[in-house]
Amino acid sequence: MTTAQTDPLVFIVSGPSGSGKSTLVRKLVEVPGMLLSISCTTRPARASEVPGQWYNFLSEEEFRRRIEADEFLEYACVFGHHYYGTPRSELERARAAAKDLVLEIDVQGASQVKRKLPGAVGIFILPPSREELERRLRARGQDSEEEIERRLEGARQEMTAYSQYEYAVVNDDMEDAGRRIQAIAVAARLATGRNRARVEEILASFGGKS
Ligand code: 5GP
Repeated sequence: MTTAQTDPLVFIVSGPSGSGKSTLVRKLVEVPGMLLSISCTTRPARASEVPGQWYNFLSEEEFRRRIEADEFLEYACVFGHHYYGTPRSELERARAAAKDLVLEIDVQGASQVKRKLPGAVGIFILPPSREELERRLRARGQDSEEEIERRLEGARQEMTAYSQYEYAVVNDDMEDAGRRIQAIAVAARLATGRNRARVEEILASFGGKS
């Protein structure tokens, strides 16, 4: 578990739309001690979205003001029209709550976070195949033929960035992929580098180092 003295472990989850990324992020956040980062965006809220639950919705003017004020850990213009960004204050919120932080962000944002926080753990979600992604996008029934083609091409481009991430989770079966993403969280927390203080304490109880 994260202690008050330890910096929050930051998990970055990316993957193409239709890969089941948001569902897997929810599974990751179910692990005790996790906090979901709330991003800011300039895109309009969808009917199902409650402001402040997954996103804070801002005007472009307000978003630009926050960029100028250096309030974002990372931000990007996604799909070429809307801005999305992670407020630095989310890291503070996690630190204050002694929790680890989960970011669901695109590949541009992920590389910015990795530069600033090299210890962040990147998890890339992939659909099992192009055919399966196409089938899922069609089953949603919300996109035109043109939009489906655009999303498939977008997915191909995004997936070429997979090697920047420490882990790849192929979402072939939601239940199983959910267990795998939770296993990554548990393993990342057990890294020796994050547990040095505790291990040293145990060593000391044996009368110190040899
Ligand atoms: P949507 O509009 O469908 O909710 O999200 C579109 C894309 O924006 C997704 O790929 C999502 O991961 C990405 N995204 C959401 N929040 C952020 C953020 O704070 N920063 C960045 N860079 N991308 C984000």
